[in-house]
Amino acid sequence: EFALELAGLEKVYNRGKPSEVSVLRGATLEVKRGEVVALVAPSGAGKSTLLHIAGLLDTPDHGSVALGGRNMVGLSDKARTEARREEVGFVYQFHHLLPEFTALENVMIPQLANGAGQAEAEARAMDLLGRVGVAPRATHRPAALSGGEQQRVAFCRALANQPRLLLADEPTGNLDPATSDQVFGALMALVRETGLAALIATHNMELAARMDRVVRLDQGRVV
Ligand code: ADP
Ligand code: ADP
Repeated sequence: EFALELAGLEKVYNRGKPSEVSVLRGATLEVKRGEVVALVAPSGAGKSTLLHIAGLLDTPDHGSVALGGRNMVGLSDKARTEARREEVGFVYQFHHLLPEFTALENVMIPQLANGAGQAEAEARAMDLLGRVGVAPRATHRPAALSGGEQQRVAFCRALANQPRLLLADEPTGNLDPATSDQVFGALMALVRETGLAALIATHNMELAARMDRVVRLDQGRVV
């Protein structure tokens, strides 16, 4: 059973212009349920493009995308947005938490937007925050949290609606090595406990080595 199946992805930016760049050239990648895959490549190799296509934020010029065995190519914008909300959680290098809301509220908001009740959303948010060790900071706003704490809250937010796939783009890229290690440990524990699949782009080879599998993007292909 695959959480994510990407096959023969091609993506060209600025087609026909002098700045044309062919970023993906037949990229193929499958991630099984429960599997954590590291995506390693130099800057500019197309990691973000691949993650955005996998997460239904962007569409390929050619190739197929399936989430949970369901084809995602050719859906209407509305159907794609719905599928994205159901299936995918995102984490970025910068946390993008809402500054005027507490950590707890930041993890509740996506659930409320998705139709959850207040009590249910709060219970799930507190459970997630507890799993990554930030429950004691639940009532603080992002500015009052350390960088590592902010990023752990961002993980909780990404998992708030119980997606089947977590996509992360340099999730610890903004942290010092010790904090990065700690935050990555919390993320892995959370992923393992929830049994979800993850595709994590990173420059950090030590962290990559702790995942189930490491793939590289090379000349627009996954190797
Ligand atoms: P990475 O995440 O590995 O750094 P990206 O996927 O962000 O790589 O970018 C791959 C290449 O595509 C880069 O050369 C980048 O400049 C180019 N690119 C990315 N997004 C766009 C865009 N929206 N329009 C034009 N070029 C883009
Ligand atoms: P780190 O070294 O991990 O980046 P900090 O030195 O920023 O951590 O913070 C250490 C502790 O102090 C953390 O628990 C953090 O939540 C707390 N803290 C940091 N800044 C503030 C603040 N402005 N208000 C309240 N607590 C804070």
